[in-house]
Amino acid sequence: MFDSLSDRLESVFKKLRGHGRLDESNIQDGLREVRLALLEADVNFKVVKDFVEKVKARALGQDVLGSLTPGQQVIKIVHEELIELLGGENCALNLSGKPPYVIMMSGLQGSGKTTSAAKLALFLRRQKYAPYLVPADVYRPAAIDQLTKLGAELGVPVYPSTVDMNPVDICVDAMRDAELKGCSVILIDTAGRLHIDELLMQELVGIKEKCRPQEILFVADAMTGQDAVTVAEKFNEVLDITGVVLTKMDGDARGGAALSIKSITGKPLKFVGMGERLSELEVFHPDRIASRILG
Ligand code: GDP
Repeated sequence: MFDSLSDRLESVFKKLRGHGRLDESNIQDGLREVRLALLEADVNFKVVKDFVEKVKARALGQDVLGSLTPGQQVIKIVHEELIELLGGENCALNLSGKPPYVIMMSGLQGSGKTTSAAKLALFLRRQKYAPYLVPADVYRPAAIDQLTKLGAELGVPVYPSTVDMNPVDICVDAMRDAELKGCSVILIDTAGRLHIDELLMQELVGIKEKCRPQEILFVADAMTGQDAVTVAEKFNEVLDITGVVLTKMDGDARGGAALSIKSITGKPLKFVGMGERLSELEVFHPDRIASRILG
């Protein structure tokens, strides 16, 4: 992931380092190339504009121009601003207060919601939580089967939802059952559609109101680039999400969604899916990713 962006930035920085001294025009040239590299990585144009302006304002300061290693200073600024762009600090799951905690997974069909719910169950179990899975997508019987199978694979209890049940009732009853079973985190896999759908949104709001989740995670396919960001905005408007999971990052060479989503939605990217296997979920660390991008 981020391969081409990484290569592009490396060549920009090589040029910058090559100058003994930097003047305003060298910096402007370098930043023009940074801008193009980000746009080619499919980063939102407004995000790119703000990013380049911030870097420029800092890079044209006396500290950089007067420094003995100005190229190095510019790279340092880009690195710091890239960490900010990716979300600054890592935002862990906010599981505070009295258990059981509720995590609601939301997103379009095919985004990787069901797989990510199971991946999170495994992740949480490794952190000594006792997870419980709730299939609340009653419109696609295959979705219930899929989560039930994944739960069995992990040895995690799964609520026995059926397609004739109401999704809000499922969630309420599942919370009672999870508590009876002594589970500490309830992961709700909500229904998805191919596109944003008013009725579905109302259903999600209903689940939110009844279950009061600590986390509402929006799941999106990283390979859909800026579409993922646009849909995230819509879900955030309606649900006030608490964070994002970007799946299929293993197949996303550009990284545009990951680089835009925090700036556009104001909500942090918390996890990334790196493959189909249940262990292939990683906590998103902005600083590590920025270092990876800058090589
Ligand atoms: P849902 O409709 O949102 O519940 O999506 P699913 O969980 O069924 O996932 C759709 C497809 O994406 C499945 O084939 C998953 O195996 C695949 N998938 C999910 N997450 C990842 C990921 O991080 N990497 C890859 N390569 N495939 C993924």
